[in-house]
Amino acid sequence: MENFVTIAKFENIFEADLARGLLEDNGFEVNLLNERVVSLAPGIASNKLCLELQVPAGQEAKAMAFLSESTKDSDTEALLKSEGAILEGHFKLTSGRHSNLYIEKIKLLQNPLLAKTLCSRLAALITDHDIDCVVGPAYGGIALAFEVASILDKSFVFTQRKDGEMTIRSGFDLSEIKRAVVIEDIVTTGGSVVEVIQCLNDRNIEVSMVGALVDRSGGAVDFGVPFMSLLQLDIPSYDPEECPLCQSGIPITKPGGSDK
Ligand SMILES: [Zn+2]
Repeated sequence: MENFVTIAKFENIFEADLARGLLEDNGFEVNLLNERVVSLAPGIASNKLCLELQVPAGQEAKAMAFLSESTKDSDTEALLKSEGAILEGHFKLTSGRHSNLYIEKIKLLQNPLLAKTLCSRLAALITDHDIDCVVGPAYGGIALAFEVASILDKSFVFTQRKDGEMTIRSGFDLSEIKRAVVIEDIVTTGGSVVEVIQCLNDRNIEVSMVGALVDRSGGAVDFGVPFMSLLQLDIPSYDPEECPLCQSGIPITKPGGSDK
């Protein structure tokens, strides 16, 4: 039997699958060690085992070069599409305009392993910042901020809107919190994040950066602190009269949106 060597290790099946797909698409023979065990019991297995991606001996340098070529952006986009968090089709937006892309926010949280994968990438962006707390706005940011806090071993709080005003959920002890990072799921106008930053500043908590899974602002936001996202996504929208999808006769759907 051919001799396989390990070129990368992964903590979960999403990352491993993407890497394997990339290599297979480029003609590599790939062996994923421990795959079956992790697939059967992801929660348990990921704590005890790791997935080892292997290629035949002699091909490791070339395979690793292919892997490093895959950028975080396209990776994250592929993950979100595969989980149905980014939908492609023909959609009628709340504004009345039409688009070929729609973000189903809640799908970001439905698969905890996906959320964990994305949060570990977010956490990696934050490690340089000296913070003591990770803050997420309700409700989309809560699970994400909690997971990032857990990975970085920092404390966690969340904010929520009370009588229209952004506030920190009562009961949290803020006395030890001096510097925080704010984690949001999707930044569109950035309005909520601005309110969260103000809310923290009012309590003498400095915000050192903002992190988001998806930045669809088109670079229009300025939080006054560094802002990093895993994916910058432009979502085109069309006036119904000028929509190319309508002109192609593609049926339109009006997704989600009524639970706010
Ligand atoms: Zn249309």
